[in-house]
Amino acid sequence: MASRANHYVLLSCALLCAAALLCFQFVGRAAGDQPSKSVAASGIPVISDIRLAGDDKQTRFIIDLDKTISFRAFPLADPYRVVLDIPQVSFQLPASVGTTGRGLIKAFRYGLVMPGGSRIVFDLSGPARIANSYVLEAANGQPPRLVLELEEVDRTTFVQSLSPDNRPELRSAIATAKDTMVTTVATIEAKAEVAAEPAAAPDGPAGAMGKPAPTPDKPDAAADLRPVIVIDPGHGGIDNGTQSGNEYEKTLVLGFGLALRDRIEKSGKYRVVMTRTDDTFIPLNDRVKIARNQSAALFVSIHADALPRREGDAQGATIYTLSDRASDAEAERLAEVENKADAIGGVNLTEEPTDVADILIDLAQRETRTFSNRFARLLMGEMKTATRMHKHPLKSAGFRVLKAPDVPSVLIELGYVSNKDDLEHLVSENWRSRTVGSVAHAIDAFFAKRLETAGPAN
Ligand SMILES: [Zn+2]
Repeated sequence: MASRANHYVLLSCALLCAAALLCFQFVGRAAGDQPSKSVAASGIPVISDIRLAGDDKQTRFIIDLDKTISFRAFPLADPYRVVLDIPQVSFQLPASVGTTGRGLIKAFRYGLVMPGGSRIVFDLSGPARIANSYVLEAANGQPPRLVLELEEVDRTTFVQSLSPDNRPELRSAIATAKDTMVTTVATIEAKAEVAAEPAAAPDGPAGAMGKPAPTPDKPDAAADLRPVIVIDPGHGGIDNGTQSGNEYEKTLVLGFGLALRDRIEKSGKYRVVMTRTDDTFIPLNDRVKIARNQSAALFVSIHADALPRREGDAQGATIYTLSDRASDAEAERLAEVENKADAIGGVNLTEEPTDVADILIDLAQRETRTFSNRFARLLMGEMKTATRMHKHPLKSAGFRVLKAPDVPSVLIELGYVSNKDDLEHLVSENWRSRTVGSVAHAIDAFFAKRLETAGPAN
């Protein structure tokens, strides 16, 4: 039973990622918010207002639209959330909308989660059920509306309202599996299951967005023997990351990632794959999957940190690698914050093979970890010539995005958007070009030995 649960979890995960990869590869940069004129011309529906009404027992959420749309609403557990999936829309709303809630809704976020698909995620103050949801045609001078009515329930009722694969009991099955698997025989079997995992994609239940998930092809990858570098700009779409004024982490790190791609592609020595090239949400697992499916030789995740004001000020860049135990309290806090991206984006967390994966990964990880650490040290050596580093620039913690067991992976926090000087750097083209150059140098140094032994790249 336990092993079946594991398998199911791995399978649904593979499907989810395949779906995301497919969209990522074929639709590319078609997504993203567009100015309202072209929105009207392109027929993308516009959300012009959002209102909340009611109290702690019953809360109503109303969206004003310019045309009716289809939708799908479902609850998620731990933390209590409701997800509303709709076709891609243009959100023409004041920036503050969603930061405070009312009644059962603590707060909500909205944005693109995939090309052609937008999402609104509600954080609930407690367990609630979707009592009613419907779309109204324009009538009596009112525009078309989408209405969602939530009603307070107890946890048992809430859990029963979840679809079977969203239920938290699945997690205890996984936890049990973890306990029983700590024997030599079981771990060998488990290793085989990991090896077989990519082949498990074709048929099965739908992915997170309820869409079929065929296995994506790898375009021309077989003929190209150059090392693959995956660049992973953090956050995106519904998940803004850290923020200072109008500067969003998701935008800053995308700019840096694209500049880094252009820089290292120019040498012709590497094939570069981006986890995202536009303002789209990508679940953490999918980022790892992209690295694994591409058989990447290096995975570089790019972020920008922020320190809550009450915790004082911090500045400079930090380079993180994976470890089970955080190197210090700040690294632990950061990993916790970065790992929340999936909850923010409305991903069903019970689908992630968290506990099982931790054990399997430990086995394959040791050698990879040596390479990750080596790259992190090279990176620090180069980056400190270009930018200010944090006083403890090399740290480690349990970042989900660094968990590809066979791909050396690092996460760079470029600086703190909460620090005035760092933010000045982060938005400066001059700084970016300099720092991108230093990262590119470190990548060259990392691969120098390998390219030597492999012969000339071209
Ligand atoms: Zn981040």
